[in-house]
Amino acid sequence: MTVNMEMFKQFAEMLPRLGDNAQPPQMTDAERVSTAKETFIRKLNGRMAIDLESCIHCGHCASACHYFVGTDDPKYVPIRKLDLLKRVYRRELSPLRWLHRLYTHDITVKELQECQELVYDSCTECGRCSMVCPMGINIAGMVNVMRQGMANAGMIPAELMAMEQEQGGHESLFGVGPEQMKGAIMKLQESGLDIPLDKEKADILITTSVIDILLFTDGLIATARIMNHLGLDWTLRSDGYEAANFGLLSGYERVQKAASERIIAAANACGAKTVIIPECGHAYPSMRWEAANEHGGPLPFEVLAISEFLGREVKSGRLKLNALGRSRKVTFHDPCKLARHSGTIEEPRWVLDALGVDFREVESSKELNWCCGGGAGVFLINSAADLRQKAFQIKINQVEKTGADSVVTACGSCRLNFLNGAMRSGWDKGIESLVELVAEALPEQQPTTH
Ligand code: SF4
Ligand code: SF4
Repeated sequence: MTVNMEMFKQFAEMLPRLGDNAQPPQMTDAERVSTAKETFIRKLNGRMAIDLESCIHCGHCASACHYFVGTDDPKYVPIRKLDLLKRVYRRELSPLRWLHRLYTHDITVKELQECQELVYDSCTECGRCSMVCPMGINIAGMVNVMRQGMANAGMIPAELMAMEQEQGGHESLFGVGPEQMKGAIMKLQESGLDIPLDKEKADILITTSVIDILLFTDGLIATARIMNHLGLDWTLRSDGYEAANFGLLSGYERVQKAASERIIAAANACGAKTVIIPECGHAYPSMRWEAANEHGGPLPFEVLAISEFLGREVKSGRLKLNALGRSRKVTFHDPCKLARHSGTIEEPRWVLDALGVDFREVESSKELNWCCGGGAGVFLINSAADLRQKAFQIKINQVEKTGADSVVTACGSCRLNFLNGAMRSGWDKGIESLVELVAEALPEQQPTTH
């Protein structure tokens, strides 16, 4: 299966205008500073305080960050992105705050403005820096706290603001809301695909994302075919289908919680025991790790990434696949949020093994895989385009060394960034989706009995 490149080009051409719809909140400079500071202080906890005081200035995090390695610019040293947060901590919360106030000044709106590039354009919150940090400092987690402060102060990139406001205000993304989603599904149903929409009761709730509805429809079709092949009791619900969470990406907590709650409510309404997240990197930790905290208690269902689900089905023997053949030389790009953040590492490899392809592991893979440079919403930020491309060059070099003809991944955002990066640099590798490969390899036989 292939991506409709014409559709993708139209999508890419629309991106420069994405921020036009953003409506920045009217705030004075003083209000912005006090709001950002209030958020930082509210979110800072004991673990972060220890982290902020633990840096031994070894520089390992710099050599792990694709933005620093891609540019050699010291402003992109990961730990330096936290300078403002650290100053707020030291001046407002640390035991020696009286001393820090003597020789440091309060943060300013100009510093917050300068910080926007550091916590949005040049950080995908990939967490690779923390993997190599001898002190285990959670830089990505604190970058997210900074994003929350910036979001509350109305100081986020216009593109993310527009998306967050659309999701928060209209429950739609790129103009796709529940009605448009239902329309798209009905078209697929008319083509003969069995997609059980809005079932009252189901064991499994499948979620999707606007990118799958608009661009990677084959991924949605593939998911439906696999679920039907396995004979599972599943549904897709128009009251809780959107897995992408622009509240999380922008740092705006209220929208993040509302987006998660829609899925929780839909799962509860149909009694789902499992919620499956589509090929979308940030959507998985958003639901798997963050949603319960926002909800205020454990979720009454299991959350699985689709790649994790497929790996389990293959490993258990329930899902048997035709070999696609060793003439297909492929490598795998581990999406940061699935592999490094969530431990979904072996499952996609079990699937690739079952697919019988010539699989070539990249150097520095799995939890240490290089980020593609487009995660955490960076793909949508126009001012980050050149920086992103420099980071993507690391990815190109990494893949080239394997001799693979194509890159398989399990995240739509990574796929978008690969497609865009390849288009910009004239790179000729195929970019494939794991779930689509599985659908391609489904045997023509009766469904497995569960
Ligand atoms: S989380 Fe990733 S992008 Fe952000 S500073 Fe660390 S290595 Fe760089
Ligand atoms: S790797 Fe850790 S200790 Fe070393 S400079 Fe970076 S944050 Fe500091």
